[in-house]
Amino acid sequence: MPDSSDIPADRSRAPRPVPKPGIMDIHAYVPGKAQAEGVADPVKLSANENILGSSEKAREAYASAAGQLHVYPDSRVSIVRDAIADHYRLEPERLIFGCGSDEVFQLLNQTFLEPGDNMVQGEYAFAAFAIGARACQAEVRSAPEPNHRIDVDELLKCVDERTRLVFLANPGNPTGTWIPFSEVLRLHAALPPSVVLVLDGAYSEFATDPTFQDGLDFARTAENVVVTHTFSKLHGLAALRVGWGYAPAAIAAAVDRIRLPFNISIPAQLAAVAAIRDTEFQDRSIAHVEQWRPWLTQQIGGLGLDVVGPSATNFVLIGFPKSGKTAAAADDFLSARGLLTRRLLNYGMPDHLRLTIGLEAHNRAVVDALADFMKS
Ligand SMILES: *Cc1c(COP(=O)(O)O)cnc(C)c1O
Repeated sequence: MPDSSDIPADRSRAPRPVPKPGIMDIHAYVPGKAQAEGVADPVKLSANENILGSSEKAREAYASAAGQLHVYPDSRVSIVRDAIADHYRLEPERLIFGCGSDEVFQLLNQTFLEPGDNMVQGEYAFAAFAIGARACQAEVRSAPEPNHRIDVDELLKCVDERTRLVFLANPGNPTGTWIPFSEVLRLHAALPPSVVLVLDGAYSEFATDPTFQDGLDFARTAENVVVTHTFSKLHGLAALRVGWGYAPAAIAAAVDRIRLPFNISIPAQLAAVAAIRDTEFQDRSIAHVEQWRPWLTQQIGGLGLDVVGPSATNFVLIGFPKSGKTAAAADDFLSARGLLTRRLLNYGMPDHLRLTIGLEAHNRAVVDALADFMKS
């Protein structure tokens, strides 16, 4: 792969088109694998999708869109906007919609970052944050996360007068850990008011500790806080790509100027509305995670492996020894049994695997396989 050293200083003199500086230094996003060699129907536990699938009502709503494929979607995304505003008691005009929350992050990066600015995140931050920031020719500053946990003081050490955005997924992916809201408030209080604090709540519904807060309440009165949510995880609609952010009105209005006009398709809008109303499916999804998360943590920990946490998400992060029973060998071993986990080389975690909490049979198969692997 060519890197920035191959790019001539004067791009107009290059013999062929040359991407702007920084683009070829970006590591493209690596999705969780969906296939295993020689296995017909592997179990995908590599992308934190909802293992229960999606709400039947959402599926019916999706199918009902078949007669409307020739029309452009409503650019304002009104039906989802109103459903979310109603469900969470938020002002509809303060909502931003994106093709997944990935696009909401991208829009925030594009709105606030110019070359020379910087964005601050934790060292194990979700990869999409930095890809978008680098595409804006901004510097990405990754603060240490001791014990795989966000450290507010470390984040603050990275902030300076060129900081425009701080991204914080709470709970985090791939760590699965979370910080108390008092720490988020301490971070916010120490940030200059010109910095946008983005609180990514992709897994917040799985954070069932009664003291956990996703920040929506706080964001109502803050002028520099954006809280994002997604339909990809709890609602099981990853295929349809719907994410949203709750932003101060001024930020929502700025982002709206560059958003692609028809970024949420009609089938996606219909399914999202049905999903947000189907609280029975949501409750069942959370209850499933709550049932199996402690079991997996205990069983895998009992094999002598290090389960990072406690996890407040629908996945667990598993640490392996650096030699011998390595993460790479475990990944191969599990793959051969049709169990797909996520390696985390792109996150600088070569010794960890991330495992989505599966159905009962999947979870038992994973624990059996890991036990055999440790004995092998
Ligand atoms: C899965 C995930 C998202 C959601 O991404 P979408 O683009 O909405 O599918 C956001 N943040 C984190 C940390 C995630 O793991």
